Amino acid sequence: MKSILLEKPYHFTYKDIESDESLAPDQVLLKIHNIGICGTDYHAFRGNQPFFSYPRRLGHELGVEIVALGSGVDAEKYPLSSRGSVEPYLHCGVCQACRRGKTNCCESLQVLGVHTEGGMTEFLKVPAAKVHLSKKLTFEQLALVETLAIGCHAVDRAKIEAHDSVLIIGAGPIGLSVVEFARMKTASVFVLDRDENRLTFCRNNYGVQTVLAAEGFDLLSFMPEKPTIIFDATGNEQSMNDTVKTIAHSGKIVFVGLHQGFIQIKDSEFHRKEVTLMASRNALPQDFEFIIQKMEEGVIDTSKWITHRADFDDMLQHFETWLKPESRVIKAVVQL
Ligand SMILES: [Zn+2]
Ligand SMILES: [Zn+2]
Repeated sequence: MKSILLEKPYHFTYKDIESDESLAPDQVLLKIHNIGICGTDYHAFRGNQPFFSYPRRLGHELGVEIVALGSGVDAEKYPLSSRGSVEPYLHCGVCQACRRGKTNCCESLQVLGVHTEGGMTEFLKVPAAKVHLSKKLTFEQLALVETLAIGCHAVDRAKIEAHDSVLIIGAGPIGLSVVEFARMKTASVFVLDRDENRLTFCRNNYGVQTVLAAEGFDLLSFMPEKPTIIFDATGNEQSMNDTVKTIAHSGKIVFVGLHQGFIQIKDSEFHRKEVTLMASRNALPQDFEFIIQKMEEGVIDTSKWITHRADFDDMLQHFETWLKPESRVIKAVVQL
């Protein structure tokens, strides 16, 4: 079967690999139809994805069809030919986090396409429980569920209330996925970025207010009051450090973007304000179910997300251009 392998940074190859269709009792065999490309894939391609080993088959945002069932899989719950989105976080089920239902941050988490071979191929097997089905959505829509799940989980962590004033820092795909869910909770959503084009996209598509992070800008000239909740989706050390200065007293900060080094906050300020600081990692199964429901209801419209498309056989021609800021990629989707 066809596959694309990232042999080493900056070097993809097409590979014909043997398909092994033997299934464990709890597994299903998936035919891959659409693959979303995200920051993780770009980082892996550039060689700056931490904990990453090569060669690796990428692909963790998947719109799939069930084509075979393991002997223990309930055929009524997982009918053949049904469409689904893959929750790519393979958890151990026995560690302390898993026992508490926090499978998104399992101690030995294996993410498809990151720690283990992903979906840039024709067929893939996964545990049936990792496939979230929809009768309504297309494969392309289903390939976007995982990206949305990152924002959905972060918003769930923050427990936003209607009176909260939310600031989302960074209007890339992760920031946008936060916007999608934050706006369901409060009317007061502001997005901050350095890039006016991204902000225009947010205003036009989400009706949120925007803050252009120009040199020496004053946040309170854009927002009536300090934000009570900040999501940092930049992964930028300085931005993350500064959130404690920006947040309102008693506010909450959620780090959605990941920075590899240390962050520094001044404890006296952190204490004085009684700040709650949390990380958000991956997402939970219920996030996938919720997103699929909201997409089916039309509350989330992913059509504006997809800016670039390519066929599987042509992906290599396009991938490098998607890395360039001038291509203005929000989401590129590969079809197979
Ligand atoms: Zn992703
Ligand atoms: Zn675990």
